[in-house]
Amino acid sequence: MKILVINCGSSSLKYQLINMENEGCLALGLVERIGIEGSKLTQKVNGNKYIIEEPMKDHTDAIKLVLGALIDSKHGVISDLSEIGAVGHRIVHGGEKYAGSVIVNDKVMKNLEECSKLAPLHNPANIIGINACKALMPTIPMVAVFDTAFHQTMPEVAYIYPLPYELYTNNGVRKYGFHGTSHKYVSDKAAKMMGKDIKDLKLITCHLGNGASVTAVQNGKSVETSMGFTPLEGIAMGTRCGSIDPAILTYVMKELNLTVDEASDLMNKKSGVLGISGISSDFRDIEKAAWEDGNHRAQLALDIFTYKVKKFIGSYAAVMGGVDAIVFTAGLGENSPETREDICSGLEFLGAVLDKSKNKVRGKEVEISTDDSKTKIFVIPTNEELVIARDTQGLVK
Ligand code: AMP
Repeated sequence: MKILVINCGSSSLKYQLINMENEGCLALGLVERIGIEGSKLTQKVNGNKYIIEEPMKDHTDAIKLVLGALIDSKHGVISDLSEIGAVGHRIVHGGEKYAGSVIVNDKVMKNLEECSKLAPLHNPANIIGINACKALMPTIPMVAVFDTAFHQTMPEVAYIYPLPYELYTNNGVRKYGFHGTSHKYVSDKAAKMMGKDIKDLKLITCHLGNGASVTAVQNGKSVETSMGFTPLEGIAMGTRCGSIDPAILTYVMKELNLTVDEASDLMNKKSGVLGISGISSDFRDIEKAAWEDGNHRAQLALDIFTYKVKKFIGSYAAVMGGVDAIVFTAGLGENSPETREDICSGLEFLGAVLDKSKNKVRGKEVEISTDDSKTKIFVIPTNEELVIARDTQGLVK
């Protein structure tokens, strides 16, 4: 079976067509600037690029072009759309309704609309993507795979905030957690690499990209994670502040006379390593400024980031009563040996000893702890699309 995986943003769309016989990616692509001047589709097949630049007024136009590119006689990879067995959609927020993936029907669509309140920047775009695919492929089953679902196993003690309890019961205010498909993928992989049953392991998975989160995975289940009610909580990220004293918000709103939207913008788009360094949200730019130009604020941004990750690792080891392996994934986790080294320095008391020469890798699935390290350390490139495709196949088979 071939599964089309769709990850729809407000003006962009990522896709992959995966052959489930060997779990290989047949084609992957990105559509940018949907509904904006300069729309562009870039599809890659075996490293060869196929680019279409033409106006796309909405997501239906974009998905029409994606399907056209997939069946294109010269650049495509299938001869007919009937070869697509199902479409798996990445959905950011499933609220408390979904602890796993589901086949999309009218009731699911209604629930997704309700969850939009919890993720107003993401869920509406995800819903538009499902509707556009349904319109163009009415007979092909659609599956919703949620970023939040993996974390639904967290205990109450982890997900209830110390706020009036009615905010949870009446308004859904609780910790949900995100990047669930990534944490699930790398924790399963780590167990395989250790040759152990995940049900016997205590793992800490660090998804360090532009958005970043750390998860405690005990016996294969998420028991605690650093992102919260929204993806703003936790580690300082590219542009997000992560956890701060909540009173800062009301103070700054009063002092700077900010509206709610302006305050939200400040915390989500102007903070994190961008806010500290004043240079960029991209870690490559910050590393360059810190190491080549000796820029203090750039170095401080890197130090604060690694310090926060280390604090989460320590606290999650305490939550689980130990840790068997620490896993690094996503853009920075996979590609920055220096970040991994900074985070791991001082973790020897947890039995985690980094092998500095093994750590000199980028984007490879590899163990980077010393041979006698009691706690293993891994780099595992994430593959959220494959998790979505596997779940989709499992439901439609
Ligand atoms: P992601 O959100 O997973 O795509 O990760 C994006 C982040 O990973 C960006 O901040 C990039 O700067 C960072 N990143 C990607 N490649 C590297 C690299 N070679 N060295 C340092 N950071 C990197």
